[in-house]
Amino acid sequence: MGILWLNEIDKNDIPLAGGKGANLGELLRNEIPVPNGFVVDSRTFLEFMEATGILYQVNDMLRGLDVEDTEKLEETSKKIREIIESSEIPKVIEEEIKAAYRKLCDEEGEEVFVAVRSSATAEDLPEASFAGQQETYLNVRGENDLVEKVRKCWSSLYTPRAIYYRVHQGFRHDEVSIAVVVQKMVNSEKSGVMFTSHPVTGERLCIIEAAFGLGEAIVSGAVSPDTYVYDRTGKKLTEINIGEKKLMITRDENGKTVKIDLPPEKVRERVLNDSEIEELVKFAELIENHYGTPQDVEWGIEKGNVYILQSRAITTIKERKEEKSVKGDVKILLKGLGASPGIGTGKVRIIDSEREIGKVEEGDILVTTMTTPDMVPAMKRASAIVTDEGGMTCHAAIVSRELGVPAVVGTKDATKILKDGMVVTVDGEKGLVYEGAVEIESRDEKVEGVSLGGVITATEVKVNISIPDGAKRAYATGADGVGLFRIEHMVLGLPKHPMKYIRDGEIEEYIQKLYEGMKEVAETFYPKPVWIRTLDAPTDEFRAMEGGENEPIEANPMLGFRGIRRDLVEDIHFRAEIRAIKRLVDEGLTNVGIMIPLVTRVDEVKRAREIIQDEGLDLDRIEFGVMIETPAAALIIDEIIEVGIDFISFGTNDLTQYTLAIDRNNENVAYMYDETHPAVMKLIEHVIKVCRERGVKTSICGQAGSYPHVVEKLVKLGIDSVSANPDAVQTVRETIARVEKKLILEGLRGLNAK
Ligand code: PEP
Ligand code: MG
Repeated sequence: MGILWLNEIDKNDIPLAGGKGANLGELLRNEIPVPNGFVVDSRTFLEFMEATGILYQVNDMLRGLDVEDTEKLEETSKKIREIIESSEIPKVIEEEIKAAYRKLCDEEGEEVFVAVRSSATAEDLPEASFAGQQETYLNVRGENDLVEKVRKCWSSLYTPRAIYYRVHQGFRHDEVSIAVVVQKMVNSEKSGVMFTSHPVTGERLCIIEAAFGLGEAIVSGAVSPDTYVYDRTGKKLTEINIGEKKLMITRDENGKTVKIDLPPEKVRERVLNDSEIEELVKFAELIENHYGTPQDVEWGIEKGNVYILQSRAITTIKERKEEKSVKGDVKILLKGLGASPGIGTGKVRIIDSEREIGKVEEGDILVTTMTTPDMVPAMKRASAIVTDEGGMTCHAAIVSRELGVPAVVGTKDATKILKDGMVVTVDGEKGLVYEGAVEIESRDEKVEGVSLGGVITATEVKVNISIPDGAKRAYATGADGVGLFRIEHMVLGLPKHPMKYIRDGEIEEYIQKLYEGMKEVAETFYPKPVWIRTLDAPTDEFRAMEGGENEPIEANPMLGFRGIRRDLVEDIHFRAEIRAIKRLVDEGLTNVGIMIPLVTRVDEVKRAREIIQDEGLDLDRIEFGVMIETPAAALIIDEIIEVGIDFISFGTNDLTQYTLAIDRNNENVAYMYDETHPAVMKLIEHVIKVCRERGVKTSICGQAGSYPHVVEKLVKLGIDSVSANPDAVQTVRETIARVEKKLILEGLRGLNAK
């Protein structure tokens, strides 16, 4: 287990410290004023789960759970959380947490109040996707209280919404862990959030939202904050909107977090003066420059000192090709903040709490005071969302941007003015709600002075997909294609094991299921390329399926019967996949490509080609490639190319584990897992060099392709495309744009110097 002090960690420590923790460490290292603290790392959680035996119990409870069945989902989540919260923490773990707290108190010279927050280990769980979904406890004091809150943070990994999100985003429950950040509490007199650049257009406008007291008031949507817009190019404050701050959240004399009503004269008082705004903008610039991408920053001011509490990349800046606007005479019913762009028309459904989410049907307009994470399933069904309260970073705003659902927040009176069943049109860009179904006009948009939208990069930016359901949203990222369609998740979601279909004489049913899932993705992206990876079925993962009981028990499934070696032995299911793909190609979906996993030998590539051709699929019609996931494949790339491939894609998740002898799922060695280890980079460099010489395209689809620092290296090495997680596509594109520009500039400077 481990306690990591914030000043000891940086952005590379996400697997151990979670996104939040690693980020705070990174900021602290760069001299940004972050309150002192430590992280109870992700190994500790797993150790607790394993030592108490809960892990296996939980995995069993989640297997096969239908997350659309709200009641079942809630019941399962409740049971799991009860188990976690009532299990005793092993003494050594408890002592270590307490000792770290005592050290923090010693440093501060008193028994300190701390903020305790869960921190998602963001390898596969981008923090942004889980906004507001995990726990935060403010003003925690005393060892025992701290330990209890840590356990509560752990259990928050299994809230209904977190489980729901994981399933919908195609993550496996046993792939996740959680870290907990414990940080000295800043008892802010003023606090808020700021976007270092405009969150929708990307313009260099720093937008600051501020309220009195602790920042939770804004994030939870309890107040309508002041908004200040600072033009970073012209270096001036261009807009001041004073919000209605009816209350503030603060710490009372007993250390309790309380909401207090503000006196009337303070409700509309300006929160920040000019010099405080300039101070905040100074940090905004420092942080954005450090990360190279626009950030969403939480801050607080205590006794005149600015503290930065959190920073994360803004993931919503979009390439905006067309603008939609309303046509003709329209009646505006409500005005608010345009929090998530797009226009939605539908019937109003007013809901008071998550218990009523069943009322919201597909295409309705969800209207509520403020959304909560439990409303996410209904938010997904809605064609737009309107709230009474909240600013640009409230729950409704963040989540609707992620879901791609138009939203207007902070309208004050939506739940009073709108009536159940009435038809309205919501403009999430302009922040307006119109009466009736308004006619919409689309036109090309001229975007002037937008620095980040509309970026076209020479290196293609693709997206990884695991579930066909996610195709539309993945497509909406503007990705140049799918660089990895992992079909295992789709297959694991089928009623029975592939070989069981075959044994039951139902191969046609199996092919049909594969065909349908693949078609959804291929059609959505057509004509952009979709590289379908043939089944990479580890025995341990497939054993749980109906008919999976024959899966051999292996000591090391990672080194066992999986990938192409398995496909070639059980070639019957490999052939089923090829038949499904052939059907797509015959229907004209020639944008699909085939990629084979876990190659180690030349004859595997040869044999795979033979089988594909034997199934009558002409490899001249589609692209064929291999994953480079083993040092063996990297070192014999020359010979593999000889056999005939169009592309390679680095599976750095496996390439790293096989190069460094680090089981990618083993948390005891996770701290040594490093995709940028010189040995891994040497293999990658070698493969890119050879492929470039031989005219074979190169790509990456491992998780490292979603990390800007790795992407930067790969672009410099000359990779042709990068395939990232849907949420990382925009950041990756921005990173690539910046690196490419730098390379061009350096080239020009080199020429000029000659
Ligand atoms: C990889 O190994 O990097 C990869 C993309 O494959 P998977 O994560 O599915 O093993
Ligand atoms: Mg792999």
